[in-house]
Amino acid sequence: HTILNNAFGQAVKWRMLASNPCSGAELPRARQKEAVALSVEEVARSVIPFLRDHPRYREAYILERLTEPDRAVSFRVVWKDDHGNIRANRGYRVQFSNAIGPYKGGLRFHRTVNLSVLKFLGFEQVFKNSLTGLPLGAAKGGANFNPKGKTDGEIMRFCHAYMEELFRHIGPDTDIPAGDIGVGLREISYMFGKYKKLRNEFTGVITGKGTAFGGSLCRTEATGFGTVYFANEVLNRVGESVEGKQCVISGAGNVAQYTAGKAIELGARVVAMSDSTGFIHDPEGITEDKLHYIIDLKTSRRGGLAEYASKYGCDFVEGTKPWMIQCDVAFPCATQNEIEAKDAQALVRNGVRLVCEGANMPTTPEGVEVLVKGGVLFAPAKAANAGGVAVSGLEMTQNSMRLSWSHEELESRLKEIMVDIHRNCLQYGTNQDGSVDYIRGANIAGFIKVADAMLAYGVI
Ligand code: GLU
Repeated sequence: HTILNNAFGQAVKWRMLASNPCSGAELPRARQKEAVALSVEEVARSVIPFLRDHPRYREAYILERLTEPDRAVSFRVVWKDDHGNIRANRGYRVQFSNAIGPYKGGLRFHRTVNLSVLKFLGFEQVFKNSLTGLPLGAAKGGANFNPKGKTDGEIMRFCHAYMEELFRHIGPDTDIPAGDIGVGLREISYMFGKYKKLRNEFTGVITGKGTAFGGSLCRTEATGFGTVYFANEVLNRVGESVEGKQCVISGAGNVAQYTAGKAIELGARVVAMSDSTGFIHDPEGITEDKLHYIIDLKTSRRGGLAEYASKYGCDFVEGTKPWMIQCDVAFPCATQNEIEAKDAQALVRNGVRLVCEGANMPTTPEGVEVLVKGGVLFAPAKAANAGGVAVSGLEMTQNSMRLSWSHEELESRLKEIMVDIHRNCLQYGTNQDGSVDYIRGANIAGFIKVADAMLAYGVI
């Protein structure tokens, strides 16, 4: 009971933080509450029954200790826009746990970023990073900076200003940031360049770097590729595969692009993708050529998906999510809380077989409930999208060894890691009737490794 109260008490505390009007978020209040509290609740639901049979974790208050980050830094970021105006934003780094390795996790630049969102993402990262089997602790960071419509020069000045403060909290053996929403190769490069200058050292302090300066091959593709490998494992277990499946993907950023790429390569038909303006419905299927167009549109020209629809003559549905489009596999790859109960109902009605999360916690708990009750296979983010941070871990290894592995080597290691994560989920998530609860499997498998390390260290 104490554990339950403490774990849920923590969730409630975070909820209160999210509803604090000073938290600066622009999300509707209800959606913020989801973001901060629900990951703790979801993990607690899986782990608490497990703790009953494992008193050593319970007596050491491991779960309660894990819900509180090691440290959270928050700082002002001041920069100048192209018109000479001085602008100020809030930057953060939440260092969640370094029980099994240095703090590791992405940076998110988005207008909705606040401390509570980053706490939720950092908490998820603890379990995800542990599941990779690599020695990676967990962190998350970012800023409430809106990159939309900013010029390259503005992005550079913001990234440099952000690193001017962040550099004192990170290091290749302390905390290794990477990308997330709004932070890709361009931003990583500006930040790495600034760190290098400030510290006068060239080390693997950030992952997702360009391959000319210590980046790993296959890191760009890793999250999306890993998500599809995971989907294939889930489907293989029930005698099916991604091949021939009709897929709907939300998002058109890094994760969505390479989820589409691998799904197409494995013989799936991808019929819809989306961005913040709406979604495209291309019943003939997005081919590799069309996908190259999307990648160029989103990463170089930074345009909207309506351009794809006019180029290829398909439908563009403005301001809506793509979940009413019939599919066998849905890959939510945009952001948190994008499949709500009504979206899940539409997916179930249209006969979806699997929902495999490429984004971090894109399905709300009500959405998950509808899917599970509807007999849909469900692959949670912390297992399904762990491929990105896994290849970040491999980038760190290559940086330490001062060598670079080939694309083939990295892709096969990535695949092996995803297969292992799936195996671990089965170990802890298989029900008596033979079905698999991937949420429980991922939570318990991720928890055990971190918990064992914390037990070994004693009370610190
Ligand atoms: N932001 C990604 C994630 O959510 C990648 C983190 C990393 O590579 O450190 O896992």
